[in-house]
Amino acid sequence: MWKYLCPKQYAKNIHQIDIVKLKEKGIKGIIMDLDNTLVSWNDNTVIPEVADWIDQIKEAGFNACIVSNNNSRRGEVLSKSFDLPGFWKAVKPRRRAFRKALKMMNLKPSQVAVVGDQVFTDILGGNRLGLYTILVRPLNKREFVGTLFVRKVEKVILYGLRRKGLLK
Ligand SMILES: [Mg+2]
Repeated sequence: MWKYLCPKQYAKNIHQIDIVKLKEKGIKGIIMDLDNTLVSWNDNTVIPEVADWIDQIKEAGFNACIVSNNNSRRGEVLSKSFDLPGFWKAVKPRRRAFRKALKMMNLKPSQVAVVGDQVFTDILGGNRLGLYTILVRPLNKREFVGTLFVRKVEKVILYGLRRKGLLK
């Protein structure tokens, strides 16, 4: 159980992820979460640092897409502004949408990183499939009420992972 909840890497924000190091690890594709990873929850404002980072990963030749539990009405707008394909209503941590993304990118799980702000959706789902999981801090504290409870549980889990020395 612990193994599945532990991210392989931890970053403060998505745009602080070192893409050169990802390349060195053999990563060729990046799956990104939308809410509180690329943009704040239910907010379409794209911060310049994130836009720049997306440009950099494209220039570096990475395959990339968005996999979100949110709906397509919200997703498509951002998918267009980032110029990235997206999979919506993904029901993460279920693996189906991740599998679809891998198929679209024509990559194996070991070649793909998943970046997200939630342990129980992004990290658990990614680890179940053998992806390289990267946990980021949520962009904004404001979020879906249901998530607030999950955050409390998440805090306990992250504390546990740190104590076990699994999370640096
Ligand atoms: Mg999220």
